Amino acid sequence: MITQANAGMNFSTNNFSYTESYVKYCSQCATKAETLTTLGAAELLNVRIYDIYRKAEAGEIHSVATPHGSLMICRNSLVQEKRFRV
Ligand SMILES: [Zn+2]
Repeated sequence: MITQANAGMNFSTNNFSYTESYVKYCSQCATKAETLTTLGAAELLNVRIYDIYRKAEAGEIHSVATPHGSLMICRNSLVQEKRFRV
């Protein structure tokens, strides 16, 4: 319904200037979603990067592998995760 192909490109930089965010296709959302680096995701949830990898592996948050072998974290799943924690 909602097309957000270009949404979010400048979104995170307002509050999280230390993170990079990219819009990627998230297979778990089955749509394009804003993704954060593992560092950015860890900062957002206030957890260690280790926990981000663990959550991604457990499927608690959505992760998207890049061709370079790094992991990007779907912001949608982080927002849900954050809501449960706070
Ligand atoms: Zn997702």
